[in-house]
Amino acid sequence: MSAGRDSAVGEQAPAEAAKAAKTGERAKKATTRKKSAATATTGTSAAKQVAAKKAAAEPAVAKKTAAKKATAKKAAASKPAAGETAAKKAGVKKATAEQTAAEKTAATKTAAKKTAAGKTAAKKAPAKKAAAEKATAGKSAATKTAAKKTAPAKKAAKATKPAASTQPAAKQPAPKSPAKPESRAAMVRRARRMNRELAEVYPYAHPELDFRNSFELLVATVLSAQTTDLRVNQTTPALFAAYPTPEDMAAAEPERLEELIRPTGFFRAKAKSLLGLSTALRDRFDGEVPGRLEDLVTLPGVGRKTANVVLGNAFGVPGITVDTHFGRLVRRFRWTEQQDPEKVEAEIAEIFPKSEWTMLSHRVVFHGRRVCHSRKPACGACPIAHDCPSYGEGELDPEKAKKLLKYEMGGQPGQRLRPPADYPGQPAPPLAGR
Ligand code: SF4
Repeated sequence: MSAGRDSAVGEQAPAEAAKAAKTGERAKKATTRKKSAATATTGTSAAKQVAAKKAAAEPAVAKKTAAKKATAKKAAASKPAAGETAAKKAGVKKATAEQTAAEKTAATKTAAKKTAAGKTAAKKAPAKKAAAEKATAGKSAATKTAAKKTAPAKKAAKATKPAASTQPAAKQPAPKSPAKPESRAAMVRRARRMNRELAEVYPYAHPELDFRNSFELLVATVLSAQTTDLRVNQTTPALFAAYPTPEDMAAAEPERLEELIRPTGFFRAKAKSLLGLSTALRDRFDGEVPGRLEDLVTLPGVGRKTANVVLGNAFGVPGITVDTHFGRLVRRFRWTEQQDPEKVEAEIAEIFPKSEWTMLSHRVVFHGRRVCHSRKPACGACPIAHDCPSYGEGELDPEKAKKLLKYEMGGQPGQRLRPPADYPGQPAPPLAGR
């Protein structure tokens, strides 16, 4: 049975195979047709694409051409445009030039206006200046008031200042140079203050000539011209031993007298003066020295300076002694500008009370001999520098200035061989060989 069935299956298979083959062929054909169709379609699409591309390219080319044409046109158009630009530029330049010119004109006008304004301002200036001056005056007044307010404090500070020692301070403040000229009242106040300060510095101030009576003082003062008091003090002991009175000296042999006073210099002229004044004292004043200025100045070799020294120190009559030191210092102190000794004396006498005249003379002369020297004042070691308008004329370095100090200030002997009891220095040595 199975073989039958198998043989039937066997028979049916070639039919199915043929069928399948037919189907396959149809399928193949169909595929081929499809492919052809596809190919045709593809070809059509390609053609279409090409056509499309072509079609697309053509407008692009056309566009390009058009663009080229447009560019050409533009270029052609731009040429006249460039011309126009140049024209425009030229126009702009012209316009700029015109503008600049206009600006210049405007600037000139502005400057002119400013000048006019300046002139107007200048006209207004005096008014403003006056207002400013008023304001400054107001300020100055305020400053002065403030200064007055601070003055008591300054006074208090001064009151606590320790008494000045005989040695000058190591450092001195630089005095302020007055901005405006010092008034007469301010100068007088300053001068009197300086005198008080000198009195503290030199409480022992005294005549530096040794003498025992008015005659000796008169003779010593005549001899002191053009020499130092020390040289006179070293000379007079032998002189007064030989001629103790006016009568003795009036009777002296000129050569002997000259020999005794030779160390003081100008000994012939001085011997003549001594013989003349001794004779006058003997003959006109009973051998006594007169106590009046007008009598003293009548004696040979006696001027106002010598007369004032004798009156002030032998008679207790106040007098101002204007010698070389005194004249130099009071001019440095700006107490006077006078050069003539008599005018100096008159002006100083106006500043100080009579009771101060003699001691003021000693203090000033002491300061001139010890500190305020003619050629090199020791400003850096000066105890009254803060009130001296001439501070700075001399040595300012404190150490160097200290070395310039003389006599007891510089640690050296004084000028007197027989100094007063309160004299702080050492007595001067006698003349060598006497
Ligand atoms: S000039 Fe100099 S040394 Fe003379 S008093 Fe004036 S500050 Fe002093």
